[in-house]
Amino acid sequence: MSMTQSPLPEALERLATLLGRFPSVGSRSAMHLAFHVLERPVIEAQQLAQALEQLHEQVGFCSLCGHLSDGELCEICVDPRRDERLLCVVEGIADVLAIEASGEFHGRYHVLGGVLSPLRGIGPSSLRLDELVERTRLEPIVEVIVATQISIEGEATASYIQRLLAANTEITVSRIASGVPQGSELEYLDGATLGRALRARQPL
Ligand code: ZN
Repeated sequence: MSMTQSPLPEALERLATLLGRFPSVGSRSAMHLAFHVLERPVIEAQQLAQALEQLHEQVGFCSLCGHLSDGELCEICVDPRRDERLLCVVEGIADVLAIEASGEFHGRYHVLGGVLSPLRGIGPSSLRLDELVERTRLEPIVEVIVATQISIEGEATASYIQRLLAANTEITVSRIASGVPQGSELEYLDGATLGRALRARQPL
């Protein structure tokens, strides 16, 4: 709290401060939201508190693909309708959501947890690459589609994966293609663009 006398109750200020930490919520909207919670019935504030409390408790990661899950395996990994021969490698969970929203992909995913970036100290051991190799040994995968961002780091990661899997001649490693502007992060692309990029993928 600042030294200036605040006319507002501390609990309200505290909530506004916490809400103000959310992306694209400024201090004015944070205060609006805090007022809103105060004006609504108590039960709604309790539900919100409970949802926040249970979030980390109940949401974990799929032990196979790394996507969000409330069990050992996520809904995509256990879905028998998904094509187990196709594996799409993405940087993060937001990319899984974006590709799912495009409706263009019916295989499974592998979440890396980032891209290789020597400048930011992200080397191969920081990513879920061992898990990827392991999956190509155990699952009937014929194509690994690398859908990392179209950037120097994204390309470097794609070639690294290509080299990593080169020994396995049963598997084609391909890369999402045209239609994706340079430097764009997949999660911000519209479904049609993402769909085109997936369809126009090229072997590496
Ligand atoms: Zn999964």
